[in-house]
Amino acid sequence: MSDISSEYKGKATMEKITSLAKRRGFVFQSSEIYGGQRGAWDYGPLGIELKNRIAASWWKEMTQLNDDIVGLDASILMHPRVWEASGHVENFTDPLVDCKKCKSRFRDDMIPEENLKEKKCPDCGGELTDPRNFNLMFKTHIGPAEDTASVVYLRPETAQGIYVNYKNIIQSNRMKIPFGIAQIGKAFRNEIVTKNFIFRTCEFEQMEMQYFVKPGEDEKWFDKWRERRWAYYERLGVKIDHLRWHQHPIDKRAHYAKDAYDIEYLFPMGWSELEGVHNRSDYDLGRHTEYSGKDMQYIDQDDNNARYIPYIIETSAGLTRNVLMILCDAYDEEQVDDELRTVLRFHPTLAPITVAVLPLMKKDGLAELANDIRQELKDDFSTDYDQAGAIGRRYRRQDEAGTPFCVTVDYESKDDHSVTLRFRDSMEQVRVKRTELAERLRKEIKEYKRIK
Ligand code: ATP
Repeated sequence: MSDISSEYKGKATMEKITSLAKRRGFVFQSSEIYGGQRGAWDYGPLGIELKNRIAASWWKEMTQLNDDIVGLDASILMHPRVWEASGHVENFTDPLVDCKKCKSRFRDDMIPEENLKEKKCPDCGGELTDPRNFNLMFKTHIGPAEDTASVVYLRPETAQGIYVNYKNIIQSNRMKIPFGIAQIGKAFRNEIVTKNFIFRTCEFEQMEMQYFVKPGEDEKWFDKWRERRWAYYERLGVKIDHLRWHQHPIDKRAHYAKDAYDIEYLFPMGWSELEGVHNRSDYDLGRHTEYSGKDMQYIDQDDNNARYIPYIIETSAGLTRNVLMILCDAYDEEQVDDELRTVLRFHPTLAPITVAVLPLMKKDGLAELANDIRQELKDDFSTDYDQAGAIGRRYRRQDEAGTPFCVTVDYESKDDHSVTLRFRDSMEQVRVKRTELAERLRKEIKEYKRIK
């Protein structure tokens, strides 16, 4: 099977993205010197900045811009009964088939129907075993005794930490329905097949928001949250023809879902899930009532103290999967003179470096002047300084890192106190007064529109 979907017209391939990510310090293979660890990746200097900015943008969208959403950071290790109540112990399984000949492993819903019917390995043609269910939760033990009483799981989703704290948050923060709780954190799944770089990994991060509503109002809020999540990606400047909705057919929905849609992105390997928006009904809080024996009902003071178990609308996005999406979406190549220019067209609020300051020459006081200007900008912007090599080369290096603005300090700068501001996308250059530089950058960031 090809890793490039026939529908895909973008310039990125998974190979190019993986190689650029390593070369420029976005993402490295975990434990590379030991041959790598399957399903785990390390975020390098530019990668952690990009990941943090995506997380900050989501956090702002959820908590700062919505008065009715508050944040939470719950623990990864939780009481094992949580995962019985949530249905994960029983249902969080993937059907696994093995090839008896080449020993490859597959999720049976990921191999062609034909092969499944004939029990034929898609890789080598060998015989496949019958599918058997395999639980995706990582199990470990807490304390010195490795017995059944000490079992704990690494959380496979962040959502449950929110449900078990819902009453705490109502009480401590006087939240009234409808309201939401947002959380960003690590999740772990023992995925049978991990491929496509950081798309599907065993250790990853999620950005989840659970919105608690009155039963009967769930469908209205479900539609609202679908609209809001779509608008968010639009505002980030993600290519709109690379986004689409996919509704889960009833027979494929998770056990808890009343309705479920995915926002899919057209990755190089094809349309794949980026984020899920789910109407989880009253399943979760109902189950936690049953398993914990605690009353999870909400007392609605705005409705004659009516008691009910709220319905939950969930928006669940992968943070690390968003990093891959943003890298693929930003990746571009274009012919400039006789050269191929590789450029990452990040939105300036997401770019790991916002502005690079470059002295035209190291000598004659230009390096010192450029350094001074960098110091001035440091407090408000993420900056870089580069004095090595020809100026054209330095621009290319910043293009490849996705730096939207370069400031060049030349001989004239010494006399007229102005600098050249160069734009990554258009490669246009304008002269700006040093005293007006920070303000101009702020304006450019606020008004940024992707041109390609
Ligand atoms: P799939 O069916 O592809 O295994 P899922 O439908 O089980 O995924 P959810 O449980 O809805 O996924 O998870 C919510 C989001 O978390 C996904 O949209 C995705 O962005 C992210 N995510 C889930 N599993 C992984 C993983 N193994 N690696 C990276 N991100 C993941």
